[in-house]
Amino acid sequence: MKDETKLVVAGRDPESNFGIVNVPVYHASTVLYSSLDDLQQRHKERAEGKQVVTYGRMGTPTTWSLEEAVAEIEGGYRCQVFPSGLAACAQAIQAFVKTGDHILVTDSVYGPTRYFCDNVLSRFGVETTYYDPLIGGGISELIRDNTSVVFVESPGSQTFEMQDIPAISDQAHKRGAVVLMDNTWASPLYYKPFEHGVDVSIQAGTKYIVGHSDVMMGTVTTNKEHWETLQTAANLNGQTAGPDDVYLAQRGMRTLSVRLKQHMENGIKVAEWLKGRSEVHSVLHPALKDHPGHDLWKRDFLGASGLFSFRLNALSRDALAAFMDDLELFGMGYSWGGYESLIIYADPSNYRTATKWDNTNPLIRLHIGLEDTDDLIADLTAGFDRLKAAQ
Ligand SMILES: *Cc1c(COP(=O)(O)O)cnc(C)c1O
Repeated sequence: MKDETKLVVAGRDPESNFGIVNVPVYHASTVLYSSLDDLQQRHKERAEGKQVVTYGRMGTPTTWSLEEAVAEIEGGYRCQVFPSGLAACAQAIQAFVKTGDHILVTDSVYGPTRYFCDNVLSRFGVETTYYDPLIGGGISELIRDNTSVVFVESPGSQTFEMQDIPAISDQAHKRGAVVLMDNTWASPLYYKPFEHGVDVSIQAGTKYIVGHSDVMMGTVTTNKEHWETLQTAANLNGQTAGPDDVYLAQRGMRTLSVRLKQHMENGIKVAEWLKGRSEVHSVLHPALKDHPGHDLWKRDFLGASGLFSFRLNALSRDALAAFMDDLELFGMGYSWGGYESLIIYADPSNYRTATKWDNTNPLIRLHIGLEDTDDLIADLTAGFDRLKAAQ
């Protein structure tokens, strides 16, 4: 089956649900057993890795439905849901480290993942080195005997460096490290991490899987080898996600392919238009031919989402505010992946250690939604007029 078909059928089971198309929302904590035999049998089956209902926290048909669908589309073995994307990132890393370990994390990583490493892992004696996202196979020089995890994220969600994940994974595996990826930008649809050497793939489902800016959700999918470690750690840390949110995420999955196609098309249109503007210093979008990571994107990715950045020519703070403050269609806000367009200012010079970003040319990140691009471009044009008037 092709992905578009899988998105429609994966994780559904009308025959077990009175013919109802969608798997219903099971709210559960206590689960009743019919007998001691039943209790012992179900626990035995669960220990063997089977999906059996034993207690709400351990999953219900509602959570399994989403987990199955994500694992199938992403191309992994099995998947576990988490209450947010950050919970998924933090828990996935924690599952594969112990005191005394060293981990390698891309310098372009999602900020809060970095703060987890710096402020939580460090307290448990796990050391983090941030590496240049463009390092490729050169990462071998940074791998130590105690390096247990190599964390990749491609592209970086503010600065859009593309990583050579197969090359990095090869080196990591030679030295026995597990490769974890934050695969949120491409969604399970446009990047297949397990075909490129990744062992554990993380989604901030909050973004494109949910798709409507109204639910927090995280998923971690692993290959067969690493499933038990991840699942045990997640369960022992009490990780799960609420059934109403899981249901909404599952509902979002069904339309992921049509939404992403439009986000991609609209995003490329607006990015190309920005490139022609005299106020713009550069556009950071991997699908544009002159992006330094374009060849890697073409080689490994099946599409692009609607998130990219651009840098403005040096300007005053007043002119920047004049551009951003009165946009009508671009909301100023964090997160992305919903149906609506967003704009946010980012200063990557705040926390870079392995790479050098300065803030002379301010970085603006856009999420291009499903609006008509003529309207979006008109909104940005009016912003540039205000910018010029304020210079
Ligand atoms: C948003 C985001 C996260 C965190 O997801 P939340 O659901 O907001 O916790 C992780 N990684 C990336 C790349 C993100 O954009």
